[in-house]
Amino acid sequence: MSNSVQQATRSEIPENMKWDLSDLYASLEDWDKDFAQIAKKLNNFNQYQGKLANCAENIKLALENSDALDRLLEKLYTFAHLLSDEDMTNSENLSYLDKISSKFAEISGATAWFTPELLSISDNKMDEYINSDTLSFYKRSLDEILRAKNHILSDKEEALLGKASEVLSSSSKTFSMLNNADIKFAEIEDEDGNKVELTHGNYIKFLESDKQDVRKAAFNAMYDAFYNLRNTLASTLEATVKRHILSVNLRGYDSALSAALYPDNVDIEVYDNLIETVNEKLPSLHNYYNLRKKVFKVDSLNAYDLHTSLIPEFKIDVPWDTACNWIREAFKPLGKEYCDILEQAFDKRWIDVLESKGKRSGAYSSGCYDSKPFVLMNYNNTLSEVFTLAHELGHSMHSYYSKEYQEYHYADYKIFVAEVASTTNELLLHDYLMKTSKDENLKQYLLNHYCDSVRSTLFRQTMFAEFEKTIHSNVEKGLALTADSLSEWYYNLNLKYHGNAVVLDKKLEMEWSRIPHFYYNFYVYKYATGHSAACILSKNILSGNTELLDAYMGFLKAGSSKNVLDIMKDAGVDLTTSEPTNIAIKEFDNTVTLLEQSLL
Ligand SMILES: [Zn+2]
Repeated sequence: MSNSVQQATRSEIPENMKWDLSDLYASLEDWDKDFAQIAKKLNNFNQYQGKLANCAENIKLALENSDALDRLLEKLYTFAHLLSDEDMTNSENLSYLDKISSKFAEISGATAWFTPELLSISDNKMDEYINSDTLSFYKRSLDEILRAKNHILSDKEEALLGKASEVLSSSSKTFSMLNNADIKFAEIEDEDGNKVELTHGNYIKFLESDKQDVRKAAFNAMYDAFYNLRNTLASTLEATVKRHILSVNLRGYDSALSAALYPDNVDIEVYDNLIETVNEKLPSLHNYYNLRKKVFKVDSLNAYDLHTSLIPEFKIDVPWDTACNWIREAFKPLGKEYCDILEQAFDKRWIDVLESKGKRSGAYSSGCYDSKPFVLMNYNNTLSEVFTLAHELGHSMHSYYSKEYQEYHYADYKIFVAEVASTTNELLLHDYLMKTSKDENLKQYLLNHYCDSVRSTLFRQTMFAEFEKTIHSNVEKGLALTADSLSEWYYNLNLKYHGNAVVLDKKLEMEWSRIPHFYYNFYVYKYATGHSAACILSKNILSGNTELLDAYMGFLKAGSSKNVLDIMKDAGVDLTTSEPTNIAIKEFDNTVTLLEQSLL
């Protein structure tokens, strides 16, 4: 905001604090040369159109050429998107991203023949091909495509649905436009009495304020704005849920939930187990809220009192070099090989460290098969940014291992397991700092940070998952989603999750209307299962047992070469049982107790 005037330009940032994209492409001319190869690679693939049924060899060659095309596209895209994120006001850089993005859309139309043609091969013939030596490498991938066969419609129907898809998804686009562009929030008074317009960006800062007036004003301004749009937002959410259910009915799935879990081959029991287990353990969350009441010496907490730090006076400045050293030490239990590779992140410039003018905000890990696993940061010397660094390096090291140990075809890991490595590394950092720090306030901060992250990933995301299940099954039963019914269901669910420890402002009933994830089709439960898995895996790593560490490294190396639940089971976590969630909540209980002993 105000300090953006003094923000450094990219050229003022020292080289060693910037990522090095040069071995991806040394120049934009090289990028252009590769871009010109797309047409040839597309032709190589498309020459097999109409010939897949002839022999197993043709299927293999088609897949190889498809991989070669995808690999080139990803390389071009990765470079363009990283470059444009360096300075989003640079329109020349942005033009490369536009160029490759529209190419992607064109290619996906031009290669759409493959799956329907593959599925049109008779069962007998396909059975023979798929079990032949020729296709042994691709067997898993082909089995996955064939698994969906019963749910794929005729060519004509698929073509119709394809043409209708943009219109069918317009309600989620409407939500996104409203939520990101058109919605306006009232001005509120900040801590110094200045009038500030509330935005999505500053909302959480206000909720973390020490002053209840400020928090309450932000909360009111947020939900008043959504309340004014409640009927529109109920209709966009209802249309999205109905689209999921329409496709379920057309494709012959049992329910919207089972259809959404189908691509990951995850059983509904995993989803239901999570909700049931968390429900049983809600007293653990209520206990944490009660601790907050005791620390703040108040009789009741409201919905806008849950985000303030329990150690408000604690401030720590962590210079970049210190952060890197903490990470090095914290990751040591992962073994020498892991740490040696990690050094490349610092030496070979995987990381774009500092904020600069026009740079994309936030943090991410990104790359492709032919690049380093890059990390974008906007490092500002806070402890929470050190955790972000641990998180993003967790993703990047996972990508590194998957690429190193898997062929291109199986190197990409699924979203279901994506947050496990990143969260595991955050927990390793937590453990390291707890064990080595002498500063009592720092320890309190760490315990508080831990409790809040379990609250927001495990408890809150499970509540979202439960809400998603409710609204889909209610539409499946024939109920209408109206602003009133959505608010009533959502508020009641919140009463259950918050318990008697929190007095919930009635305005919270509108929160359903501002959560983008409710448009993602049963996505959020993966955050919760990911946290539980990471909790067990970090304990395994810290135990010093080499077999358990090897099992974990197996997970990092697995890519998408197996089913996600099998990958997790081999790593040491059985997500088909309630055990991981129970262990994660037990750890949460222990942490709340430590925090209580330290603060009271
Ligand atoms: Zn992440």
